[in-house]
Amino acid sequence: MPPRSRRPFRPTPRPLRPPAASAAGPEAVPEVLPSFAELGLSPDLVEATTAMGFERATPIQARAIPVALAGRDLVGQAQTGSGKTAAFGLPILERLEVPGPPTQALVLCPTRELTVQVSEEIGRLASRRPVGWIAIFGGDPMRRQLTGLRQQPQIIVATPGRLLDHLQRRSLSLGQVRFAVLDEADRMLDMGFAPDVERILRQTPSARQTMLFSATMPEWVRRLASRYMRDPETVSVTGRTELVPTVRQWYIECSWADKVDALTRLLDSPIVKVGLIFTETKRNADLLHSVLLTRGYDVTVLHGDLSQHDRDEALERFRNSRVRFLIATNVAARGLDIDDISHVINYDVPSTPEEYVHRVGRTARAGRDGVALTLITPIEILKLRDIERHTNTRIERHTARELEELVGEGVGAA
Ligand code: AMP
Repeated sequence: MPPRSRRPFRPTPRPLRPPAASAAGPEAVPEVLPSFAELGLSPDLVEATTAMGFERATPIQARAIPVALAGRDLVGQAQTGSGKTAAFGLPILERLEVPGPPTQALVLCPTRELTVQVSEEIGRLASRRPVGWIAIFGGDPMRRQLTGLRQQPQIIVATPGRLLDHLQRRSLSLGQVRFAVLDEADRMLDMGFAPDVERILRQTPSARQTMLFSATMPEWVRRLASRYMRDPETVSVTGRTELVPTVRQWYIECSWADKVDALTRLLDSPIVKVGLIFTETKRNADLLHSVLLTRGYDVTVLHGDLSQHDRDEALERFRNSRVRFLIATNVAARGLDIDDISHVINYDVPSTPEEYVHRVGRTARAGRDGVALTLITPIEILKLRDIERHTNTRIERHTARELEELVGEGVGAA
């Protein structure tokens, strides 16, 4: 039994969006994707994937699983939502020694939410094996984590900061790690985790197998790969920063003073069924939250200064459709896998093209349509051009006055 699971098991099979056009290029995705049995996985793991509703491997799984099963170090470039967790989770489960020593596999994730999500996905994949796993992250009661660790789980999914706390307390040792995974490596860099990640890796045996996944490959990620990996094989399903093809992208020009009104006119539209609204700062998230609450909107907020309990609650309410709108900072931009978000609204323009791609990727999950709307003040237009250049897309312009017409025309037509 796993030492702990933060949420009840959700057996919802969630089909992936179709393999992206990114399949083009020197490493073209095979046209017929293999089944999990064809990839050489044991029957109980194949059964677990079937129970989760997976029929065939996704492109990243088709390429990464054979490399990982062969014991090679791996650099995977793939978007969130591409099935990355199973791409590293299944080979680890296949090769883990069970019963065997604790902490054989270590997965580092940038945020608490991703840590929970990844650990739960691993829990589902491991449902037919007596494997122990635990999620370790800041904001969660230390006592609960210590109790979980005493059960000697083989798989640890952790944020770097809290993991270092445990290493200092000696409640955990990395001496037996055979598999290390750096998930969302570029995000860990953005969040200033680079030194922590290196400190952690230095405490693991050098003979480990290391797998690194990242949506983008900035210089630090390459450096880390060359310093901590042995002759890694690179598998990539994105030639460049790409957007989900089914997302329609619009921007709305308005003055700073009109922003809240422009937003509420959007939220008033029945077509905007479920909206994830991004702000750049925690302060803006809180301010916007109070304004929208005062105006009677069904809204909650998620950012890094809230207690873990409040963050979990906000996410659960949004995930379970108990609240229609979630205001969030970039903490919710990556990896979160919530179906049915009809609209992503950038109340503030994201500061980097990568952040834009990640935010926009929260809609149009599981092959659905989605709309990304960005509110832009005239001074911010250069940021938008930069995003268009990097993502090689065009974001259509509309003025605040055109809004109603735009919404009426079916901004959210799915
Ligand atoms: P991830 O990129 O690991 O966050 O996965 C995104 C979503 O795709 C999760 O809900 C997974 O359960 C689901 N998923 C992963 N692999 C497959 C697959 N081969 N077929 C269908 N869904 C999958």
